[in-house]
Amino acid sequence: MFRSSLRQLSQGLRDRTYSSVELTEHFLHRIQAEDDQLNSFITSTAEMALAEAATADRLIAAGQHGPLTGLPLAHKDIFCTANVRTSCASRMLDNFISPYDATVVARMRAAGLVMLGKTNMDEFAMGSSNETSYYGPVRNPWDLERVPGGSSGGSAAAVAARLAPAATGTDTGGSIRQPAALCGLTGIKPTYGRVSRYGMIAFASSLDQGGVLTQSAEDAAMLLQVMAGFDARDSTSVAEPVPDYSATLTHSLAGLRIGLPDEYFADGLDPAVATVIEAAISEYEKLGAKVQRISLPHSHLAVPAYYVVAPAECSSNLSRFDGVRFGHRCQDPVDLNDLYQRSRGEGFGAEVKRRIMTGTYVLSAGYYDAYYLKAQQARRLIRDDFQQAFEAVDVIMGPTSPSTAFLLNSRMDDPLTMYLSDVYTIAVNLAGVPAMSIPCGEVAGLPVGLQLIAPYFSEARLLNIAHCFQQTSDWHRRIPVAFAGN
Ligand code: GLN
Repeated sequence: MFRSSLRQLSQGLRDRTYSSVELTEHFLHRIQAEDDQLNSFITSTAEMALAEAATADRLIAAGQHGPLTGLPLAHKDIFCTANVRTSCASRMLDNFISPYDATVVARMRAAGLVMLGKTNMDEFAMGSSNETSYYGPVRNPWDLERVPGGSSGGSAAAVAARLAPAATGTDTGGSIRQPAALCGLTGIKPTYGRVSRYGMIAFASSLDQGGVLTQSAEDAAMLLQVMAGFDARDSTSVAEPVPDYSATLTHSLAGLRIGLPDEYFADGLDPAVATVIEAAISEYEKLGAKVQRISLPHSHLAVPAYYVVAPAECSSNLSRFDGVRFGHRCQDPVDLNDLYQRSRGEGFGAEVKRRIMTGTYVLSAGYYDAYYLKAQQARRLIRDDFQQAFEAVDVIMGPTSPSTAFLLNSRMDDPLTMYLSDVYTIAVNLAGVPAMSIPCGEVAGLPVGLQLIAPYFSEARLLNIAHCFQQTSDWHRRIPVAFAGN
């Protein structure tokens, strides 16, 4: 069963080939048997999952089910889940049991999806390797010595090893697309405002967006269908109608205008990765697409602008963790300052502290204009680059990551090199446009991801473009050997 896509599992449930309880037990068993190697889950919610599956089976028996009823999935531990620990992979929230569901979780629950558990991630979603988690690093199922990418590394590893058929993720600077690329999965970061951020623990509020990591574009379309849409509880949620994402998957790509940015094929890109990306693009030409070179001239400003804006917003968002209201509180504080200092000092890990300190610095009087304001100006230029590019092309393609999965511990002492892991993904978040990563080949047995970027609210087009590629290739069906047995 674990080899099947969400679409196939949905059919299996409707045909009564298996029940939701059987399906859920199957994945829970895989998690139990295999996850010691990966560390992809922080919390497994087996009991709750079986109860939800039993409810789903009753709905299916009564004919009151939808396409997602009874399908298991995992949630990144950044989404609040009622009565279940929501840690954000931080010691700060190790003891936090959320009293409510995030909108994404609530909508998926209402659609009948069964939650298997909460997946590991970089602490507060800060990282590109899933090595900053309080619960330890996650390993890449394709090579256990390598990182799965981050910050949604637990979700990526779990789906790649088929411990879950799909998982949610969040993407602030690449955290869905980059781990999807490094683990051979399909990942979509929707337009900013497409998916509600309510109950999704905030890192950088103007960049954060929820999405999914799946085996295929077809599966992503099914899940996005229930996640997307206006939510009055998120003031940046957009009241744009949600199209039927599955209806347009097979539209012809004849005449599709693809733009390849010069800046995404320059120095810093592993030449072997470049070769795989170029081969994937020629597949699109066979499908009738027309390719042209374009320029996104302010690309070089993306990483520096991001590492001002994201820390600035995170320093503000994370000020709520003060040891008073919820989360970690130090032992026997002598006074209020001691309470704040030790609770935060003990609760946050090194990378989170680095970001908070950078953020407070760039927002402080005297530095605000030089850093924060400048970064906001760069952000506008980056957005304008995309706007201009989309006058000439329908979709932008390039690599998701400059390299395949790197070795554990190889970038942890060098934050700047770590930050460059997202050199091709970050501009998308600064602009707010939607993007995907799809598996398109391998280098030395490790997956390579092709990034697709489209104009605002063109998720349907992205899914269509991704699906057509997946109709003519089988990269997305490959399972790492170590996890492909029984
Ligand atoms: N790797 C980037 C960072 O560390 C992006 C993380 C993310 O998208 N959440 O901030």
